[in-house]
Amino acid sequence: MTASIIDGKAFAANLKEQIARKVSILKENHNLTPGLAVVLVGEDPASQVYVRNKNKSTKAAGMNSYEYLMDDDVSESELIAKVTELNGDPSVHGILVQLPLPKHINEAAVIETISPEKDVDGFHVINSGLLATGGKGMVPCTPLGCIMMLKDKLGSLSGLDAVVVGRSNIVGKPMAQLLLNESCTVTIAHSRTKNLGEVVGRSDIVVAAVGVPELVKGSWIKPGATVIDVGINRIEKDDGKTKLVGDVEFIPASERAGAITPVPGGVGPMTIAVLLQNTVTAACRQLAIDEPE
Ligand code: NAD
Repeated sequence: MTASIIDGKAFAANLKEQIARKVSILKENHNLTPGLAVVLVGEDPASQVYVRNKNKSTKAAGMNSYEYLMDDDVSESELIAKVTELNGDPSVHGILVQLPLPKHINEAAVIETISPEKDVDGFHVINSGLLATGGKGMVPCTPLGCIMMLKDKLGSLSGLDAVVVGRSNIVGKPMAQLLLNESCTVTIAHSRTKNLGEVVGRSDIVVAAVGVPELVKGSWIKPGATVIDVGINRIEKDDGKTKLVGDVEFIPASERAGAITPVPGGVGPMTIAVLLQNTVTAACRQLAIDEPE
């Protein structure tokens, strides 16, 4: 079997078009321009790239983008004061504090300061609680993007066996919860899981979110399974140059899977698109406006 490729880039481009259309309706009918504020602490090059891309995509969708750059040595209370100010700013509907934060700052304390209605990353405990109890909160962008692609590919996920490899608060746990909400039978595997190959081998859906290059072997994949590779790992090639690989051995896995996301070009592009979608949703909820279809 040769898997069909789930093209995250095309999916994200399509989603961004829909978002831009919703934004123009909101502007015209409600005089509402959704606004996203991104706070970046320090000068981590990868974080700078993410923030720049978020800024560019937000503007391209017709939304307002506000960027706050803070020095590496900013105090926790100064950062919390900035978030509190943004909570009270009516032109800001979504707030994202780029992680990781410097070691002297308690990340949880900062995240808990973000108003849950503006928490477009969906990391606040109120939002994880709402996700776990079937409420209407903000859902973390990466897993939400994965579930959108899975539903697009498979239609109903009901009754399918799914494994999520990785149990982080950002990807693994919310991903498992979303699959459970779709009535999958969900296994969460992690660094202490015994016989990972066996667990993966009985799964119709495999979501890998580990951060270990090609940990999930192609030979483990159940024939016809759908594989979503969240991992982004930069590895050195024989010629000394580097390349990006996922958490799944792509070529052997694509010989067994029914469908698979590539790295790059799979889950990655969806994350920013979903962030924009979450910002539109947050803005509509805050103003009690029905979100345009
Ligand atoms: P994390 O380090 O917080 O969590 C990794 C998880 O993997 C842990 O729960 C751990 O138990 C598990 N794990 C580690 N070694 C394992 C092993 N040998 N077997 C089974 N499980 C093991 O990472 P994260 O933030 O969840 O990110 C995971 C990967 O996804 C990283 O490569 C990251 O770069 C990528 N990521 C991509 C996007 C995107 O937009 N595409 C977004 C977020 C994260």
